[in-house]
Amino acid sequence: MPTINSKLPGVGTTIFTVMSRMASDVGAINLSQGFPDFNVPPGLLASLHTHLDADHHQYAPMAGLPELCEAIAGKTRRLYCREIDALTEVTVTSGATSALFTAIEACAGPGDEVIVLDPAYDSYDPAIRLAGATPVHVPLLPGSFAIDFDRLASAMTSRTRMLVMNTPHNPTGAVVTADELDQLAGLLRKTNVIVLSDEVYEHMFFEADRHASLSAHAELATRSLVVSSFGKTYHCTGWKVGYVIAPQELMAEFRRVHQFVQFCVATPLQHALADYLESDPGHYENLPAFYRIKRDQFCTLLGESRFNLSPSAGTYFQLADYSEISDASDMEFSEWLTREAGVACIPVSVFQRTRAPDQRLVRFCFAKHEATLEQAAERLCAI
Ligand code: GLN
Repeated sequence: MPTINSKLPGVGTTIFTVMSRMASDVGAINLSQGFPDFNVPPGLLASLHTHLDADHHQYAPMAGLPELCEAIAGKTRRLYCREIDALTEVTVTSGATSALFTAIEACAGPGDEVIVLDPAYDSYDPAIRLAGATPVHVPLLPGSFAIDFDRLASAMTSRTRMLVMNTPHNPTGAVVTADELDQLAGLLRKTNVIVLSDEVYEHMFFEADRHASLSAHAELATRSLVVSSFGKTYHCTGWKVGYVIAPQELMAEFRRVHQFVQFCVATPLQHALADYLESDPGHYENLPAFYRIKRDQFCTLLGESRFNLSPSAGTYFQLADYSEISDASDMEFSEWLTREAGVACIPVSVFQRTRAPDQRLVRFCFAKHEATLEQAAERLCAI
């Protein structure tokens, strides 16, 4: 048996797999891993059927189906008032995960530092280390989970190559404001830092009247790779189709790697998404209101519980403070909740290197039918 020197020693199975498996083993309602329990829009499914029958079964172009890249450019113009060249500034990827991985691999290497803001989505740190670069974890402000600009400024060095940010933010539900983007632009102005902006929840914001995308920020957009995911927008996380937008020179670098990692993405899926993105912009325009109702339902249902909730500003996640129920660690509490109360959640500390000693937070996914949320809330209110 050959021995392997692990490139990711100490890395176990992701929390999403662990908690979803536990939920399934014990028959708990699964509010842990983020995925909806409602259907893909019928028009999108119909379009997929049409394209499956239309013999679209060979490789798509490496950078993405031109129709889909055009549709993405159209959406970017409509929502973020940014003109992008569909041919050279958009690449379709196998989900946001591969876009993030490829971007980090393409831009960072040995000797480089990449800043991530904790709590940070779990794929960033391993991708940075696999690229040979050094992750630098900077905590977001406790409580609000806003960017701590003082700490961010002091973490930056001449070796800082990239900043990974995520808005709306998983797992906290925090959103970055346009003012904060101006502040970030000022901080980065004289540097050579690339921003990798994970905006997979771009259509789920509940307080602001628009999402502050890096694509909409004239100055930051020139140094940014902006990532999104159709899985979130069209309730099809299993399709694993995402994309990245970046200025031409950055995109050329991205594609140097992308062509050898995946080359291209499933052709019929791209055709279906291209049709639907163009024919029904109402779907994503209505998404903030759709998910705001779900967030409000979930928060109201938990009003009678001993959980403490500050309503999420974005994403389809809600944090809950369980200090009144238990002083166990969030991992122990999540396991207990799944096994004993029959509702699975995600412990927040797995996304952090450091945290306040009294932090007792778990994350619930509210992208579920009302009946699922009611059943879960009944169980959560009983403890
Ligand atoms: N992003 C999803 C979440 O935060 C899970 C994705 C995954 O399972 N890898 O729950």
